[in-house]
Amino acid sequence: KVISTMSVGFDHLALDEIKKRGIRVGYTPDVLTDATAELSVALLLSACRRLPEAAEQVRSGGWTTWKPLWMCGYGLSDSTVGIIGLGRIGQAVARRLKPFGVRKFLYTGSGPRPESAAEFGAEFVPLARLAEESDFVVVTCALTPATQGMCNKDFFGRMKKTSVFVNTSRGAVVNQEDLYEALAQGQIAAAGLDVTTPEPLPTDHPLLSLKNCVILPHIGSATYATRSTMAVLAARNLLAGLRGEPMPHELHL
Ligand code: NDP
Repeated sequence: KVISTMSVGFDHLALDEIKKRGIRVGYTPDVLTDATAELSVALLLSACRRLPEAAEQVRSGGWTTWKPLWMCGYGLSDSTVGIIGLGRIGQAVARRLKPFGVRKFLYTGSGPRPESAAEFGAEFVPLARLAEESDFVVVTCALTPATQGMCNKDFFGRMKKTSVFVNTSRGAVVNQEDLYEALAQGQIAAAGLDVTTPEPLPTDHPLLSLKNCVILPHIGSATYATRSTMAVLAARNLLAGLRGEPMPHELHL
């Protein structure tokens, strides 16, 4: 009768079949926006300032005398940040990154969103231009047939050698073989992924052999407070659905 997903993403649901069977769907938008945006920023900083690699140097004895360029990375000051999908999470990421001194925000999506973009003076550009001009690319779009495999060889080939790629949306937006090649060949500087294909990522996956790729186990919304709020909302959606009442957050198919 009812499906209640404890997520804002619904790419894991067979929507055509669900619609055909008249099943109602509840989901949990908004309540996880802040936590996921915060994690996106943490992942971006981890990747661009090489935090896991640097922390490992302390443990392994690689930290010796001071060297001018040792463990250097790329910072956000005066940078251009490109956001793929300026939705709830995309805007929350931009809002958090702005105080780091970002010079320019670019974004792409299915069309310009002037009301969402105004706060950041963000410019709507085609995907190719976003790849070419961004120092940091942050992917926060939904996984749809249009976004599946969107970040591919052509996309990474357009990015600068010094640019950093971050994905907190869904793994399938990225062609992982192409990302591996781009990172291994030095076509881009680094990547941070909270989402992969498949999940969990096998421990012998080639991406895990790269120092310039930080991979997290899909923990975007994983704060105690957020998960608790999501659980309550998911339960309220479910109960309302079963009672035939309006859901707090129903996905309208
Ligand atoms: P929203 O619906 O607010 O935003 C989705 C965005 O996707 C919109 O800005 C939309 O842009 C964009 N989009 C759709 N089609 C395209 C396209 N063809 N090209 C580029 N962008 C496109 O959702 P949220 O911000 O709340 O969540 C976004 C996604 O984040 C979720 O779908 C989920 O997959 C993921 N997520 C991941 C989490 C994690 O733990 N890592 C946690 C929570 C969410 P437009 O308006 O122009 O169509």
